[in-house]
Amino acid sequence: MPGRAQIAANLARVRERIEAAGGDADALEIVAVTKGQPAEAAQAAVELGLTRLGENRVQEAVGKMAQVQGASWHLVGHLQTNKVRHASSFELIHSLDSSRLARALAGRHEPPVLLEVNVSRDPAKHGVAPEGALQLAREVDGLLDLRGLMAMGPAEGDPRPAFAELRRLREDLQQRLGRPLPILSMGMSDDLEAAVSEGSTMLRLGRALFGDRTL
Ligand SMILES: *Cc1c(COP(=O)(O)O)cnc(C)c1O
Repeated sequence: MPGRAQIAANLARVRERIEAAGGDADALEIVAVTKGQPAEAAQAAVELGLTRLGENRVQEAVGKMAQVQGASWHLVGHLQTNKVRHASSFELIHSLDSSRLARALAGRHEPPVLLEVNVSRDPAKHGVAPEGALQLAREVDGLLDLRGLMAMGPAEGDPRPAFAELRRLREDLQQRLGRPLPILSMGMSDDLEAAVSEGSTMLRLGRALFGDRTL
């Protein structure tokens, strides 16, 4: 399990990578993705100032919430409609990708959401197709507090075109909805440079901070 000193050293390295890619390490928000990591590692991250913690499974998140003090939790993974009752435990849901889920969430003290867009057009991935994003954004906008967009980079190849597409899609949606969508959640441990240079505002980092997952 990574100790506090190890996580601190990893965070320093992440900040160097952000700056080297032309980003501002103080302005970029980091979600420390604690999936596969024990609660002690999550707590150490919080004590280093990484107070936004991300999980991709509701069950694992809810278990750690009881053990970690001082964190706010982000759901970065897919939310099944039968788990929406847990939504209010999160500060932000990154993975809204259907109007069915939006309707299931609405009216439950639900947190703000990001639309997950499948910009890598990978059929194995979640996310609304880029072509369907405008319609879904319009539907969601009346129901939930829509704050921005999220995407995963492609499994292989240059991630830059996918991240550039998400950035352009956000500009387009801002114009059409007539209001700002401040959050662009893109960039993970292996592709953060490309995401930063394409305008990410929020990185979701697991292994770069904690090393390999152990749970
Ligand atoms: C696991 C995960 C991350 C973090 O991945 P790393 O490669 O460990 O940085 C980010 N976003 C989502 C949606 C994830 O599931």
